[in-house]
Amino acid sequence: MVMFDIPRLPRFAVVAGCALVYMGFAWGLVSSGYLLVSTELYLSLVASWLGGMLVLSWPLPASDVASTMRRVFFRLLWFNLGGVAVAVLVPNELRFLMLVVPLFGVLYAALRLNGDRVLFIAAATWLSYVASTSALLWLGSVEMRFEVLAGLAFSFLLAGMVYFAGDLEALRRRAESRQQYLEKSVEELSGVAMRDELTGVFNRRYILEALKRHKALADRDRLEFTVCYCDMDHFKRVNDQLGHAAGDRALVQFAELAVSLVRSMDYVARLGGEEFLLVLVGANEKVAERVCERLCDKTRELVLEGRHAVVQRLSVSCGVARYRLGESTDDLLQRADRALYEAKRAGRDRVVTAGD
Ligand code: GH3
Ligand code: MG
Ligand code: MG
Repeated sequence: MVMFDIPRLPRFAVVAGCALVYMGFAWGLVSSGYLLVSTELYLSLVASWLGGMLVLSWPLPASDVASTMRRVFFRLLWFNLGGVAVAVLVPNELRFLMLVVPLFGVLYAALRLNGDRVLFIAAATWLSYVASTSALLWLGSVEMRFEVLAGLAFSFLLAGMVYFAGDLEALRRRAESRQQYLEKSVEELSGVAMRDELTGVFNRRYILEALKRHKALADRDRLEFTVCYCDMDHFKRVNDQLGHAAGDRALVQFAELAVSLVRSMDYVARLGGEEFLLVLVGANEKVAERVCERLCDKTRELVLEGRHAVVQRLSVSCGVARYRLGESTDDLLQRADRALYEAKRAGRDRVVTAGD
């Protein structure tokens, strides 16, 4: 099936086009002598209305949602106030045709604005109608009985439109909140899929995938990278002495520290428990050793306070391994793990680099 989209023209062009057509209509009215008020009064009203519409539709650079909505509100308010006033001043048959336009204005408002603003525009439209017909009655250009009936009919139509607009506005709001909910869910899901819940750094699954991607890049473009396997020392003791909650806080502090020591293109991940992996992109083992030494120094400076205000120092051991062209990521991690084991065996709180 062939689908046609209704073309979306720039708003100012549409308003300017409609203003031109309306000026042609006004000229026709004036020259046919159908007007209920003097030509001068009618033309000055039309000029103010159309001029105001053009000013309010002038394209401004995009700003925040609140000020855009304010602009939409004032534009629609002006559209309806003036639309009713100029419609009332033309003879009856034409007048009722033209009064359909502000009724659509109320519906359009429901598509863009919140309920209280839609109600405000509807109330202002009604007042504009009452004021314009009162002016005509005062000038003696129309008949009282007819105007009362016409006013009731217009009020009835307007009330119906407001009711309908309420439904439309509720529908729009529901669609908007569903959209927001979906966007938030997608954001949360991608966060859950990538991040460790406690520390916020990458999780095991994500980092193992990222490692594979980096291996492929390294094999193709000879880009080097180095991994650092870090394991907190005697973490069981930390938990035993300070409590599990303090242990959790220590893991969060450590993760923040690691993130602060690497560059934005590097990765910090929690493999599980008290084990972390750093992937330093474009770095050799010398660079990685320096990063890990700093990590050890800064970890020693972390202060942990637990249940009974015990202060305990933390330390970490790191195994560093540079990616060897062609090796599997499992082999790379195993070499880093062996280096870490060496660091533990040699007394902990140190960095050991895997040989080739
Ligand atoms: P080592 O220096 O040999 O690494 O000693 P260790 O005590 O750190 O090593 P071990 O593997 O025996 O114990 C790890 C401890 O880490 C056990 C567990 O209580 C603690 N741990 C693991 N995951 C978490 C966690 O999510 N939160 C807290 N608070 N503790 C955890
Ligand atoms: Mg461990
Ligand atoms: Mg440990």
